[in-house]
Amino acid sequence: MKVRVSIFSSPAERDYDSPYAWPAGTFLQAGDSGIVLPSGSLRKVLTDDKAGAQVVGAALGVAEPPEGAYTTAFLEAFPKHPATFIRGEGKTIAEADASAWRQFQRFAACPKHKFWRKGYTNGAGFCRCCGLFKSKAFRPIGRCRYNCKGAVADHDAKGRGYCKRHNQKNPNRMFDRVDGRLVMRSKEERSGS
Ligand SMILES: [Zn+2]
Ligand SMILES: [Zn+2]
Repeated sequence: MKVRVSIFSSPAERDYDSPYAWPAGTFLQAGDSGIVLPSGSLRKVLTDDKAGAQVVGAALGVAEPPEGAYTTAFLEAFPKHPATFIRGEGKTIAEADASAWRQFQRFAACPKHKFWRKGYTNGAGFCRCCGLFKSKAFRPIGRCRYNCKGAVADHDAKGRGYCKRHNQKNPNRMFDRVDGRLVMRSKEERSGS
């Protein structure tokens, strides 16, 4: 399958063709000089000309990468089903492709994805079994699922938000209002009965 290879890659890699059966419509891009910076160093690269020049030089293959950083070949796949993003790394694009393909195979072999938010509030989810990332696994937190202006007061088991007013329709709501007071519902009631 055709891969869009970065123009900074070595000539030998530029015509790389993936031997794997990526599903039709999958966008593939790759390069043999991706730079992985140590965490926290981006600020230095952006504010320090010398560090920045070193990174650009390393990407072009004419300078050593800065301390703690390394260059790698990478292949990024954007399949449509499931809509996700997979990044493989390796010494060559072929190695990176093999790594990305192994990840894709693991996702495809998962019997049933069980998504959780992993702390993200933008609706992204990760499968607990296979690690698949899905950008629209949930509704974003922070908005009532009835699209009113009310602030989100509670969530249901699927992570959808409810404002105070609409929370009566939330099968998993924490509290019921009884005689003007909030009463916590039992675990059984909260499980959706
Ligand atoms: Zn899964
Ligand atoms: Zn509402």
